[in-house]
Amino acid sequence: MTVSEAIAASKIDPREARLLLAEVCGFSQASLAASPEQDIPFEVENAFFEFTQRRKKGEPVAYILGRKEFYGLDLSVNPSVLIPRPETELLVDLALERNPASVLDLGTGSGAIALAIKHERPNCRVVAVEADLSALLTAKRNAARLNLEIDFRHGRWLEPVADERFQLIVSNPPYVASGDPHLAALRFEPQGALVAGPGGLDSIREIVQAAGVFLFPGAWLLLEHGIGQEEAVRGLMAGAGLESITTWPDLAGIARVSGGTLKS
Ligand code: GLN
Repeated sequence: MTVSEAIAASKIDPREARLLLAEVCGFSQASLAASPEQDIPFEVENAFFEFTQRRKKGEPVAYILGRKEFYGLDLSVNPSVLIPRPETELLVDLALERNPASVLDLGTGSGAIALAIKHERPNCRVVAVEADLSALLTAKRNAARLNLEIDFRHGRWLEPVADERFQLIVSNPPYVASGDPHLAALRFEPQGALVAGPGGLDSIREIVQAAGVFLFPGAWLLLEHGIGQEEAVRGLMAGAGLESITTWPDLAGIARVSGGTLKS
């Protein structure tokens, strides 16, 4: 069977099919795209069609491959961690612009945000908190494989952080409302990393209310949030006494990150 025959027979998105085929063949995607008439090794056909069956049942490609690219880093992912999203790169951009000497990442999941910051700013001290033990293990493995030094803590939001202040606190917390129909499409991902109460704001509220004492004066708290949540998040930040409250749009023009600073 040729590459183009296998891709057509899979009946999934051809780009995704090529990714899965490249994985089972051990060929590059470029080579598959350049020579669609080449034969695939017959012994990988079964593996390829098993992968495409999983994809047809809705499993994300990142879980099938066990990895996802984020901010130029190749991260291992599995169903214990949220798949890093391209829009979350905005949070990393905003963090890097501030050139902080210390960063706290709350709910690090795969470690994506913490690792991207550490990779770009090797002298920055990065602390990353995660409540789920399997997710924490995944993040630790990613850090070890990428040779990036992160101070990992096990616990819920700010609980494992005592008597420390940071120049920046970042988080991509759960922010989907519990009844949101969009959750059906996200059913393969850890619900604890996605869902935050009936309004989707429970985790953000908890973080905003607790973060102040962990920030140096003038330091920023930057939080990713969902479509249409910016007013509520800004209100919570104002209520917690933060200043210079700002919202930034992602590449799709959706208000995606809001932040504020502690009065200096
Ligand atoms: N951006 C994700 C989605 O809706 C949600 C991520 C999150 O809740 N932190 O697909």
